[in-house]
Amino acid sequence: MKTLHLSAEVSETAEIAANLIKNGELVAIPTETVYGLGANGLDEAAVAKIFEAKGRPQDNPLILHISCAEEMEKFCKDIPRAAYDLAEKFWPGPLTIVLPARDIVPRRTTGGLSTVAVRCPDNAVTREIIRLAGVPIAAPSANISGKPSTTTAQHVAHDHEGRIAAIVDGGPCRVGVESTIVDLTEDRPRLLRPGGIGPEQLREVLGDLVVDKAVTAQIDKDAVVKAPGMKYRHYAPAEPVVIVSGSRERAAEYIHAHFVPGDRVLCFQEELPLYGDCKPLAYGREADVNTLSAGLFAALRELDDPAIHKVYARCPEGGGVAYAVQNRLKKAAAFHIVDAEAEL
Ligand code: AMP
Ligand code: MG
Repeated sequence: MKTLHLSAEVSETAEIAANLIKNGELVAIPTETVYGLGANGLDEAAVAKIFEAKGRPQDNPLILHISCAEEMEKFCKDIPRAAYDLAEKFWPGPLTIVLPARDIVPRRTTGGLSTVAVRCPDNAVTREIIRLAGVPIAAPSANISGKPSTTTAQHVAHDHEGRIAAIVDGGPCRVGVESTIVDLTEDRPRLLRPGGIGPEQLREVLGDLVVDKAVTAQIDKDAVVKAPGMKYRHYAPAEPVVIVSGSRERAAEYIHAHFVPGDRVLCFQEELPLYGDCKPLAYGREADVNTLSAGLFAALRELDDPAIHKVYARCPEGGGVAYAVQNRLKKAAAFHIVDAEAEL
């Protein structure tokens, strides 16, 4: 198959992409979080292609992308007031809401669940594609399953060139980590995945929020979990990743003491001078956490190399989007964290 490369800046792009979606094809779409691998979310055969292209486990549900908040009612039922409050405050934006699904949504899309995840993305061309297609676009991150997510059109081409109908290039993703997911189908709102909208921002609107244990710890592969996606290995380069916490100086001491040729260091730009002889790669500035979220997956992809032995990674502190960066790095590291302050 020849993959069409479409620019978000060309006016015909939305129409071409929408027609491909209507015809049951796969189209990679840009969003403010990461690039998605999109298909008609109401078409079982089209959705099956997403799972096949990614090598994604069948029980890992997809997010339905909609073009405006009003569309929530077409695919979800028993919608609580809180969902409208969140949509008004954060949509279009990096927030996904889990609600009871209407029968029109195929179980293949929801991974067999009776609930469905919906989000209105903050990307004009993608919302226009959804509007013109006249159907919601089901889209997980466009990476091959288990690998670091795709934050540029080039990442998508690397994983899927020749195997999907089109890639819409909207430039590098602004947020760079997947959406925050909040589940509103239980008694209390539950954070299933941190993202661009921090827990503090959610609590301001909801007044209450439970953080699911999958956010902070490794989930056993046989465990029964709310969102099956949470138990799978995620975001991981080929080699083991170890997070080294503690002060800048202590972490550098620890890493220098353990570093062997073939290892790499993933750090903040401010720390580069400390690791001159350790082939450091900076993913952003510690002083501006948005650069860290935007740069994390590109860096993890660059480090996805079987020739690398081990990666020592530095992780930002704090809430907001830093909380999401911590979550992705901890998952990439399979929650392997050493405290340099305690070790030395
Ligand atoms: P991805 O976009 O690749 O990160 O995948 C979508 C994520 O949304 C997965 O981790 C799912 O576990 C989660 N998700 C999608 N639908 C639901 C749902 N109905 N209930 C809970 N989580 C969901
Ligand atoms: Mg993903």
